[in-house]
Amino acid sequence: MKRRVFSGARPTGRQHLGNYLGAIQNYVSLQDEYNCVYCIVDIHALTSLEDTTNLQSNIHEMTLDWLAAGLDPQKSIIFVQSHVPEVMELHTLLSMVTPLGWLLRVPTFKEKVKLQSHNVNYGLVGYPVLMTADIVLYKAKVVPVGEDQLPHLELAREIARRFNNLFGDTFPEPEAKLTSFPMVLGLDGKEKMSKQLGNDVEIALSPEDTIKQVMTAVTDPARQYRSDPGHPEVCNVYRLHGYFNPSQLEDIAGQCRSAKIGCVDCKMLLAVKINSALEPLRERRSAFTAKPQYIKDVLADGAKRAQAIARETLSEVKQKMGLI
Ligand code: SF4
Repeated sequence: MKRRVFSGARPTGRQHLGNYLGAIQNYVSLQDEYNCVYCIVDIHALTSLEDTTNLQSNIHEMTLDWLAAGLDPQKSIIFVQSHVPEVMELHTLLSMVTPLGWLLRVPTFKEKVKLQSHNVNYGLVGYPVLMTADIVLYKAKVVPVGEDQLPHLELAREIARRFNNLFGDTFPEPEAKLTSFPMVLGLDGKEKMSKQLGNDVEIALSPEDTIKQVMTAVTDPARQYRSDPGHPEVCNVYRLHGYFNPSQLEDIAGQCRSAKIGCVDCKMLLAVKINSALEPLRERRSAFTAKPQYIKDVLADGAKRAQAIARETLSEVKQKMGLI
């Protein structure tokens, strides 16, 4: 029996190289070893989203990218969080066993309070409880996380443990599957790649637009003229070659240091490599784009399968809490 993995991601629309290298590739690789439940967490998005105009198109575009990248609805359950409303019921029930002090201590809550001081909503403080409900509703045993997310998972484990202590063994304590998600810097070479910062390259761009976008990348700031020797170790274009062009990495470093290659040519080479790596994904995406009903069907089928598990868990929870 394969163990169940749960992972959720906010509906951010078209995915970029950072999403692809940092999470989606990992999602794809887990599918054979685990029973994977992959959720587009639209309710979580509402904690910071004040304008929901693009929410549905973002869900659609993100699903397209996931499927094009190789997430297989035959192997994994792929669905939208709010399509299985049992999660919100479980969230309420778990909130009764979660001391407020645990939630107020969460560092990301404090950060969010600073970031969106005009909108410190109840959902923000309850976020870890909803996250716990996401995981334990499906009795997931494994959650892929980066090191920075470990405290969140520890809190989920504590909430599950507290429920089990109060009402009897119900939830497995989810274990972290530590994954070295590469932190992909954006084209500015400074910040993490992000749509909001506009330093990203969407995986579904056309080859021409990919070239245009990559050409805007910041390189070694000390290399002002073509004849200046470069420093690949400080250049994000060089880092991106590491993902898409590893076989030429040493060669590029040597040519950069001896000024045998200019940054324009180096960026063009990178764009060509990105285009060739993503060509099969883009072809699959075009095929899926032509079948919008298929995307809806995948999400509906995912929600149905997720809900079957969710209903069973929720009924058990209610019985143990004396609600039935
Ligand atoms: S040649 Fe390439 S690696 Fe060297 S600084 Fe320019 S873009 Fe970066």
